[in-house]
Amino acid sequence: MVAHAAAVTPVTLPASAVEVRGLNKVYKGSGRSGPKHALKGIDLVIPRGSLFGLLGPNGAGKSTLINILAGLVNKTDGHVSIWGTDIDAHPRQARASIGVVPQELNMDPFFTPREMLELQAGLYGVPRGQRRTDELLEAVGLADKANAYARTLSGGMKRRLMVAKAMVHTPPVLVLDEPTAGVDIELRRLLWEHVRKLNRAGTTVLLTTHYLQEAEELCDTIAIINHGTVVACEPKRALLGRVDNKALSLTVDRDLTAVPDALAAFTAELAEPRQLVVRYQPSRQKVDGILAAVAAAGLSIVDLSTEESDLEDIFLQLTAGAHTEELARGAA
Ligand code: ADP
Ligand code: MG
Repeated sequence: MVAHAAAVTPVTLPASAVEVRGLNKVYKGSGRSGPKHALKGIDLVIPRGSLFGLLGPNGAGKSTLINILAGLVNKTDGHVSIWGTDIDAHPRQARASIGVVPQELNMDPFFTPREMLELQAGLYGVPRGQRRTDELLEAVGLADKANAYARTLSGGMKRRLMVAKAMVHTPPVLVLDEPTAGVDIELRRLLWEHVRKLNRAGTTVLLTTHYLQEAEELCDTIAIINHGTVVACEPKRALLGRVDNKALSLTVDRDLTAVPDALAAFTAELAEPRQLVVRYQPSRQKVDGILAAVAAAGLSIVDLSTEESDLEDIFLQLTAGAHTEELARGAA
């Protein structure tokens, strides 16, 4: 048994797992492409113990941010501290506190998972007697593949192996850049389970994703970035509560060819010949008004369900600019 890294660091735990202040990154660009301001004054605090989702469309700057934390990309300016350690003042110590699974999986096809983990442990100076190779392989469900060549592993297995690799030095902070991009739905669930388990065991997890569903299902705190700027950062519950938008789905007793005129006052659509979907703002509109309109159209309701707004709606609101801000204000 080896003590968790968090337990061997000084008694005082850091206030937060990661703190980013005024972070800027300008890629110089080369030849035809000019400079690119990928991060524009990012401020971000990742609470200790959280399962934190960094969400944003492709090109938002997620990987740039992750790679700066990992020490793989140099920042232009700003401050970053990991587990209480400033990355400029003590780069080695900062790096020892973080394990990163990069977006691009590159691994030597002729190494086995066991060899890869041993190699990585060596790189991090983990003494032989303190290595947890078997325990880690077990944890990511690869114990039976310990001695198989990496090239024989499936994409999902490789991704899990990378998670194990990022954990060899038992960092208190684990960062996963797009962990399930290109991973099929079944394996995605398996990976989520592993991530949850690590988090429950005390590891702070930061993951980036452009899958809204992933952040919604997995994370307790979510930041959204767009064009290198943080547009939201709050507990998931609070974020989900921000959109005043619900959908009422109604199954009626006969086939329709169009939305009945009686529903003209609502945002309604005919999803199927017998299914109407009506969007409404709970703060302003009551469901019984919708039901009354359906009755006025001479329809009977066979079944109904409502759907809360999800991250997708919030995401669209926050990333779509002035027009949606107006909508949000109108709803308040
Ligand atoms: P994300 O991970 O959110 O998709 P990235 O951090 O990869 O976003 O990219 C942010 C922006 O920076 C994009 O416009 C991308 O083209 C640009 N970029 C990323 N890496 C480089 C690089 N090495 N050189 C120049 N521009 C880059
Ligand atoms: Mg990326």
